[in-house]
Amino acid sequence: QAKELGRGEFRFFSDSMNRNSAARVRLESDLRRAVTEESFVLFYQPKLDLETGRFSSMEALIRWPHADGMISPADFIPLAEETNLIVPLGEWILRRACLDAVALGERLGQVPGVAINLSARQFRQAGLIDSVRAALEESDIVPGKVELEITESMVMDDVEAAIKTMQALRDLGVRLAIDDFGTGYSSLSYLKRFPVNTLKIDRAFIRDLTRDSEDAAITQAVIALARALNLHVVAEGVETHEQLAFLGEHRCASVQGFLLARPGPIESMPALFSKTFI
Ligand code: C2E
Ligand code: MG
Ligand code: MG
Ligand code: MG
Repeated sequence: QAKELGRGEFRFFSDSMNRNSAARVRLESDLRRAVTEESFVLFYQPKLDLETGRFSSMEALIRWPHADGMISPADFIPLAEETNLIVPLGEWILRRACLDAVALGERLGQVPGVAINLSARQFRQAGLIDSVRAALEESDIVPGKVELEITESMVMDDVEAAIKTMQALRDLGVRLAIDDFGTGYSSLSYLKRFPVNTLKIDRAFIRDLTRDSEDAAITQAVIALARALNLHVVAEGVETHEQLAFLGEHRCASVQGFLLARPGPIESMPALFSKTFI
């Protein structure tokens, strides 16, 4: 059954929705057409570097403008995975994000970092390495400017295979981040074997940071863990000045969230990247 998401977004189907229901069949054929016609939009949400007080990179977040309104990636990425449409869609996202970052770099005089989310199926698919290489070559972006975000659950069902994939990606020169860190099932012993550069602390811990002493303790511990393992650390979902102050005090390297900027079109980035905070 449909569930309201707020901010004008609407959840179109849930796990309980019948696989063959008319709405799902229609959504699937709309998705197939949208992939062919490349009728998606990438929004970007910048990340603030707390040391410099400036935005230094941005995360690509896909949007699907649809006759029924804007469909959230939480709703169509799972469908794209089930139908394997994630493969061409994922390739489009990689290409578009790299091209956008390079074009923005021409305006700013410096190419910003660009983070791109990978889905589980995309991560496991054999052609991933070639897709990433093709996007790097086509855009001519410095590979170290690209950070691919994966989640713990994506790597945990076949750890050895995942480490091989991560290493192959690192060999292309791109960076890797663990997204939503702290909510998955990875054990700390694996963390040291994962060739990742960044931990993104899940929004769930940031939300109640200033009210819940356990969330505060977890956040501090992840920041300390990242520092000890020489990893970059980003807090996502920062919505209040109090959260920002806490993260600054505990020397979190970067922050991202509605307080600093909501995801927006690439056209809105130049103005943001020329601002200084703090
Ligand atoms: P994520 O990668 O963890 O992205 C963060 C989500 O939190 C985004 O939702 C973003 O709009 C939202 N967000 C950012 N700051 C705040 C904040 O301060 N407060 C709150 N409440 N939310 C905030 P979005 O864009 O709806 O994306 C949801 C998820 O869908 C993403 O989670 C990611 O897992 C997936 N996704 C988005 N774009 C892509 C994509 O291009 N490819 C793939 N494979 N997955 C994507
Ligand atoms: Mg992400
Ligand atoms: Mg996240
Ligand atoms: Mg998430």
